Amino acid sequence: MPLQIVHHPDYDAGFATNHRFPMSKYPLLMEALRARGLARPDALNAADPAPASWLRLAHAADYVDQVINCSVPEKIEREIGFPVGPRVSRRAQLATGGTILAARLALRHGIACNTAGGSHHARRAQGAGFCTFNDVAVASLVLLDEGAAQNILVVDLDVHQGDGTADILSDEPGVFTFSMHGERNYPARKIASDLDIALADGTGDAAYLRRLATILPELSARARWDIVFYNAGVDVHAEDRLGRLALSNDGLHARDEMVIGHFRALGIPICGVIGGGYSTDVPALAARHAILFEVASAYT
Ligand SMILES: [Zn+2]
Repeated sequence: MPLQIVHHPDYDAGFATNHRFPMSKYPLLMEALRARGLARPDALNAADPAPASWLRLAHAADYVDQVINCSVPEKIEREIGFPVGPRVSRRAQLATGGTILAARLALRHGIACNTAGGSHHARRAQGAGFCTFNDVAVASLVLLDEGAAQNILVVDLDVHQGDGTADILSDEPGVFTFSMHGERNYPARKIASDLDIALADGTGDAAYLRRLATILPELSARARWDIVFYNAGVDVHAEDRLGRLALSNDGLHARDEMVIGHFRALGIPICGVIGGGYSTDVPALAARHAILFEVASAYT
């Protein structure tokens, strides 16, 4: 069985190549997946824009309207890190719709991945840190609302703390949020997840994987999870421009293998999202994001 992948060409909002946010990683990731034989036409699913009614489950109604109408106040645009014009607005709705579709495919097939998503700094009332809508929080609340899941686990291994996800889901007993991140990274003011692990600067493969191996059985013992959302941010890599950790490509591979192998062995569906990754060498960055899909393909 090929891996179910969700994608849309408009995930790429067409920023200048020297923009701080490496937007071209989205088409390059698809190229990398095709080159590796991982993006099979019969298992490639086109994302649809998330409707406002779903976005409002996680976000304040006026912020949802501002993004859809491209009228986000400048102060919030500055916190996001780019202006919210028509292409960014569409991209945010598509990436969120993509994670919802990937979650549904994961429930049906056991595992599925979105080639975007993991916008974990977007809070209830506004976006921040290159994140417009919080796709994982929206998808979690859609599944709960529809009764498609009752117990949801978020495993956020992006190098930055999942403050927006924690903000949106703090009062939601149906979702448990876990974030393992670099202690000294953005955001300066963290919002507590249900469980946070902060790592020291320079943490490398061995120490990282040891910590992860200890925590995974604790997470799976907490409840019978109906689905896991896995944010596989690659900004933990040693060559990442914004991360402060020191994982290698082998370390990324071992990390993804550990997470996916652990939950799939228990029969728990996994929805993978790519999360953060920042590098001026965008082909190398896209290859790092492709690791998630390589590992996930072995579990279909
Ligand atoms: Zn990040």
